[in-house]
Amino acid sequence: MKSIIVLGCGIAGLSCAVALQDAGFCSIRILARELPPYTTSDVAGGLWFPYKAEPMHRILAWSKVTFQEMMRLRNVPEAGITMTRFFQLFPKQLYRDAWWSGAVEVYRVLTEAEIAAEFPNLPKGQFPSGFYAEVPIAEPHKHLPYLMQRFRARGGTIEHAHIHSLEEVAEPHTIVINCTGLQAKYLVGDDNVFPIRGQIMVVKNTGINRSITIESNDERSEYATYTIARSEDVIMGGVAMENNWETSIDEATIQGIIARCASVEPALAQPIILQHKAGLRPGRTEVRLEAETLSNGATVIHNYGHGGSGYTVNWGCAHEVVHLVRVACSS
Ligand SMILES: Cc1cc2nc3c(=O)[nH]c(=O)nc-3n(C[C@H](O)[C@H](O)[C@H](O)COP(=O)(O)OP(=O)(O)OC[C@H]3O[C@@H](n4cnc5c(N)ncnc54)[C@H](O)[C@@H]3O)c2cc1C
Repeated sequence: MKSIIVLGCGIAGLSCAVALQDAGFCSIRILARELPPYTTSDVAGGLWFPYKAEPMHRILAWSKVTFQEMMRLRNVPEAGITMTRFFQLFPKQLYRDAWWSGAVEVYRVLTEAEIAAEFPNLPKGQFPSGFYAEVPIAEPHKHLPYLMQRFRARGGTIEHAHIHSLEEVAEPHTIVINCTGLQAKYLVGDDNVFPIRGQIMVVKNTGINRSITIESNDERSEYATYTIARSEDVIMGGVAMENNWETSIDEATIQGIIARCASVEPALAQPIILQHKAGLRPGRTEVRLEAETLSNGATVIHNYGHGGSGYTVNWGCAHEVVHLVRVACSS
């Protein structure tokens, strides 16, 4: 029996470790430089919504599996999964369905009249089209501890370790699952990995029960305007700045986020701010999910580069990792 080491304790590493246990693999170790609450996965809003990740056909398939798993986990209170009414609004007329619509259960294209009724404060015609869906949120401050607890309860171990090369941990009878997110850029020298800076605010939820994403006419815009209504708070965002490594909080960005979010959700004009957060999404030209055999015979399964979709694809990716582990064990 091969032993399994999972590198990384963010949403990708934890869901792979748990899915491997579910599939009957035991003796799994997680090694990670940072543990929750200090990973990028702790910065996220946790909304199920495919964003800034490629390629589209794989993202859709993984998102669909993840949606179903999140729906099952809704029945486990400590998993921290909540549902939200989600509106995606566009500043132009669209004549198509959302590309992700096949992954969700409740979905419809919004009419202009429906948008006007839901958002009476908006100038007429500002957002002539949009999509509505009911989607899950995995609240990171509850969900990551839940996954850690679930993993440990079945004998998994989680250790602090900074790994400088795969060869340090990959022995011939070991399978290494590489879930190191943005740091994979340096761990395996992957030039296709890049940061996408994000900044958000966690504010008190004073009765908001819908989540909104506003699309821009400019696909290269660094502004990402969104609100995510969670059980006790609301996330106000944000930005998506490619190749920007800055993780400090920017004051001008805060003011911009408040102005843009309040224009669609007036109750957020004077938010009670609980926390500011900034982090770097692990961008990549395409998610890397594949097996590699090192020169010493060890198998490495890479699972990183999920961009702004780590919580949207995690279970789909984890199930594919389990499949690749089974293949590696049978060869
Ligand atoms: C502001 C913001 C909002 C977001 N909102 C959402 C959202 O609403 N929905 C969504 O789906 N996604 C969202 N995301 C994206 C999501 O956070 C990421 O896709 C996801 O967290 C990536 O998870 P990961 O496990 O791959 O990486 P990480 O969470 O970064 O975890 C990587 C792990 O690897 C470890 N590691 C790295 N290098 C080494 C090494 N050399 N040795 C040992 N350990 C190492 C780290 O310490 C860490 O434990 C958001 C991101 C940001 C920044």
